[in-house]
Amino acid sequence: MSASDPRRRTPRTDAILADPRLQAAADRLGRRTGRDVVAATLRRVRAGELAPAQAADAAVASLPEAPSSLGRVVNATGVLVHTNLGRAPLSSVAVEAITAAAGYTPVELDLDTGRRGRRGAGAAAAIAGLVPQAEAVHVVNSNAAALMLVAAALAGGGEVLVSRGELVEIGDGFRIHELITATGARLREVGATNRTHPADYARAIGPDTALILRIHPSNFAMTGFVSAAPLERLVTLGPPVVYDIGSGLLTPEPALPDEPDATSALRAGAALVTASGDKLLGGPQAGLMLGRADLVERCRRHPLARAVRPDKLTLAALEATLRGPVPPVVAALRAPYPELRARADALADKLTGAGVDARATDCEARVGGGGAPTVALPSAAVSLPAELAGPLRQGRPPVLGRVVAGRCLLDLRAVAADEDPLLFEAVRAAADRAR
Ligand SMILES: *Cc1c(COP(=O)(O)O)cnc(C)c1O
Repeated sequence: MSASDPRRRTPRTDAILADPRLQAAADRLGRRTGRDVVAATLRRVRAGELAPAQAADAAVASLPEAPSSLGRVVNATGVLVHTNLGRAPLSSVAVEAITAAAGYTPVELDLDTGRRGRRGAGAAAAIAGLVPQAEAVHVVNSNAAALMLVAAALAGGGEVLVSRGELVEIGDGFRIHELITATGARLREVGATNRTHPADYARAIGPDTALILRIHPSNFAMTGFVSAAPLERLVTLGPPVVYDIGSGLLTPEPALPDEPDATSALRAGAALVTASGDKLLGGPQAGLMLGRADLVERCRRHPLARAVRPDKLTLAALEATLRGPVPPVVAALRAPYPELRARADALADKLTGAGVDARATDCEARVGGGGAPTVALPSAAVSLPAELAGPLRQGRPPVLGRVVAGRCLLDLRAVAADEDPLLFEAVRAAADRAR
């Protein structure tokens, strides 16, 4: 092969882009994406990593599968509500609702009268239907947004009483009590780290007290010489009690008996409950506020309410989640262990047959960021060599497991049963690439 041999020359961008497979991808994903992929491929050719004749095939192979960098991944970490992986996966009806609402949609229009309608009325009605104890409901972007709005609208510059045992850091350095004071409200800590009594709150109440805030310790647990004031007592002290339950359970969940829920909290006398939409509720990222009509209305009319209003896709997905079948997070929570073990056995057998070092093993899954920090859910996994963790993470689709004692465990509790064939192919491909 001489230096002038066309097979050795770096191909031209346009020549590669003319490949019908890339043409089709560019039609779907946009010309910019096609050009970016070709440019990256040609850099590899110039660096000598790739033969010129392979450039077109390599460019096609590296086309993104999803139109954004947020494509689908398989969550085999065993953590059901994983904040780094987008928390709750949406149910298929929620996805259908998002698609339907993606175009023009009557998010603030009443089609019967032709007049302006209340934004999110459908989602609010769905929540109210499931929690009759709530006089009123309002939906915002996140639970953090709900707490911010509560502090701004209901506390103003007044005092918010919080137990020292409930000064919670929720993640990435963010703390709920700092969020509260960032609105201008003043924090008044009561009690001790391990014990707070009703009398501690009673002593702290004064003319400036705007509300009592109870925060569910959703990501840690205290044991030993501990006690918290019962909600039933707090609500008799005078100021409205706002209860941040975190996880978003609307009614008690039998699988998590210690996790608070909105219905029980309101029944016990809480004036307002705030919660996330994308934890155990199993819906999109959202913040729910439920409770006394006058308080909800003050939050709804506060200027900041406009800054934290949810978009139409969120409202559509939330309503569909609430009206639809059991969402994936709850299905994963309730999946019987024997079914998970049977799936792990079958997958391990198939992988062994394909020449992969795989075996089924028992393990423990976790609820995750959504709550119940002490609950271990009996689960089953496919155990693989730890070296496969990287190739699996970089595969298509990416598969995220956890490495324990030199093995990469693919925990099946948060993996839907219909994803097993995909998981099998992903492991086989990763093992091939690791060889
Ligand atoms: C997760 C959580 C929050 C924050 O909710 P986001 O929806 O992530 O804003 C607040 N409080 C508690 C108790 C939580 O568990």
